[in-house]
Amino acid sequence: MLNYNQGLQFALEQDKRDELATYRNQFHIPKNQDGHDLIYMTGNSLGLQPKNTKAYVNQELDDWAKLGVEGHTQAKNPWLHYHEFLTNNMAKIVGAKPEEVIIMNTLTVNLHLMMVSFYKPTKQRYKILIEADAFPSDKFAVESQLRHHGFNDKEGLILWHSRPNEELLHFDDLKTILKNQGHEIALILLGGVNYYTGQYLNLKRITKLGHQYHCKVGFDCAHGAGNVALNLHDSGADFAVWCSYKYLNSGPGSLAGCFVHERHAHNKTLNRFTGWWSHNKESRFNMRDAFDLLPGAEGWQLSNPPILSMAAIRASLDLFSEVGFDKLLNKSKALTGYFEYLINQIKNDNIKIITPKNPEKRGCQLSIQVKNADKTLHDKLTNLGVISDWREPDVIRCAPVPLYNSFEDVYRLVEKLKKSLSE
Ligand SMILES: *Cc1c(COP(=O)(O)O)cnc(C)c1O
Repeated sequence: MLNYNQGLQFALEQDKRDELATYRNQFHIPKNQDGHDLIYMTGNSLGLQPKNTKAYVNQELDDWAKLGVEGHTQAKNPWLHYHEFLTNNMAKIVGAKPEEVIIMNTLTVNLHLMMVSFYKPTKQRYKILIEADAFPSDKFAVESQLRHHGFNDKEGLILWHSRPNEELLHFDDLKTILKNQGHEIALILLGGVNYYTGQYLNLKRITKLGHQYHCKVGFDCAHGAGNVALNLHDSGADFAVWCSYKYLNSGPGSLAGCFVHERHAHNKTLNRFTGWWSHNKESRFNMRDAFDLLPGAEGWQLSNPPILSMAAIRASLDLFSEVGFDKLLNKSKALTGYFEYLINQIKNDNIKIITPKNPEKRGCQLSIQVKNADKTLHDKLTNLGVISDWREPDVIRCAPVPLYNSFEDVYRLVEKLKKSLSE
């Protein structure tokens, strides 16, 4: 553990020693009107653009211009196989086997496709358990699945609440819910890292518990992918989904990832929605053959995918692969630890970090609750050149991202927060 210190000098020294510091130059950092870097703390919402993204996208634009439809087979990176260029690197980041991972569609779409396969309600066992403070899209998706199967979306939903006056979830409370209602629950769907508190749940422990009660277990890892070591294969989860535009820096609305555990990935009897891209690659273009399902997570694809979006994902994944995820995690822990230290030095009883203190139970994001504050605090920060995220009623979320944020960023962020608080 680093011995943190409050002065700017300390931050500058850490940046000098940081072997990943130069990667900041490989990103476009948003600037203010005077051309100074803004303090960008919202990589948890939209990751910054790697400078090499343009070249990757232009390669495909150029091949399309030169080759038209022939680009499917003749492009430098033949489009027919383009998703395969992403699989290995993505699998490493989420801790899965390549055949368990596919990049396709967008996050909420993948969530629905996974529920087509893994939410198989019966009259006795039809409920879905989510965290009480789930990301709204996930909640809406789950409610619509309940209705789709003819169930009442209020009766069918079981919420895992935090305790009164607390924000974080206790595993023991989940145990109690399962003990009482486990026999009614068809699916447990949780945010691997909660978007609001930044709490990183123990995926393996939850999966084991859920499976004891014969529930299917899936995770939304939108805030986990590229941020924490998810070890999806080892977790034993039935499925997981995540987007690539947050910590994975692939651009607004870019394609999402999907994990199907190997014990299901090769199960051809599992119910699913299909299209021509779930069909055997060798005979896909014969067009008249009977359906022949692709094995592995690839078999959940429906359509031929948007290559330009995949090119942006590839640019980002190549960077991750060059850096090495372990190094990123080490820096992430040091950087967020420093952030936490500085916040804890502020003498103000209204400030509380609601993210877990244990670095193993969080990623880089800290959610800072400021009692009696309202959005004007966030507006002050914005005016001082900080891009952060405000969540009603009183929480500021900041995510120092190890790929492009510096110790100096964190130092200046906290100085500006202090200034905003004292005004
Ligand atoms: C960001 C996020 C989403 C967004 O879903 P899209 O389908 O990409 O719009 C959904 N769920 C969670 C948990 C998220 O963090």
